[in-house]
Amino acid sequence: GALQRERLESFVRERSGALPRGERPPLTVLAGPTAVGKGTVATHVRDTHPDVRLSVSATTRPPRPGEIDGVHYFFVSDEDFDRMLAADELLEWATVHNKFRYGTPRGPVVDASARGEVVLLEIDLQGARQVRQSMPDARLVFLAPPSWDELVRRLVGRGTEGEEERARRLATAKIELAAADEFDEIIVNDEVELAAERLVQLMRGAE
Ligand code: 5GP
Repeated sequence: GALQRERLESFVRERSGALPRGERPPLTVLAGPTAVGKGTVATHVRDTHPDVRLSVSATTRPPRPGEIDGVHYFFVSDEDFDRMLAADELLEWATVHNKFRYGTPRGPVVDASARGEVVLLEIDLQGARQVRQSMPDARLVFLAPPSWDELVRRLVGRGTEGEEERARRLATAKIELAAADEFDEIIVNDEVELAAERLVQLMRGAE
């Protein structure tokens, strides 16, 4: 009967270490326009809150100096990425800035969620929309710049892109900003520490 099933379920749950469905903290996605500082905020959360599981994406982009395979990204070839797609190993994926492909390996996210861990994905807008489709319970957080001028300043200040690329990214950022209302929460990235703290509060279930 029902009671027996409930007992069996709780027995299996205890053994597996998983939390019951409703008590599982939902997966959190952090997205936002280019150059808003998503990566900085996500890294800060990881460094200050070791209990937060920051998903490591696979990418076809070559590593930058200092980036470590398996820590910052899994750096894979185009063939590897194709193989992951064919095997349905990615929770979401996108071609970012018309160049390289990025995707979230499904396995680690599913396993960590089942263990009741707080999982954070720092991905682009296209990816966030895919997660919304496939995991309607996911919490989508939009990281917004304090102002448009500040976003421009950050994009220019980073100095990693040429004139043409910068113009292209600004055009993209304008479109991306308009997507804020598709999200559950908006955090203004005025100060990295404050934005990171707010994000952690939200992930822990605060209103
Ligand atoms: P970067 O090459 O500067 O490390 O990252 C470029 C962009 O790719 C960032 O906007 C970042 O949010 C996005 N990105 C990183 N990993 C993923 C991923 O797994 N999926 C998606 N959709 N975007 C990602």
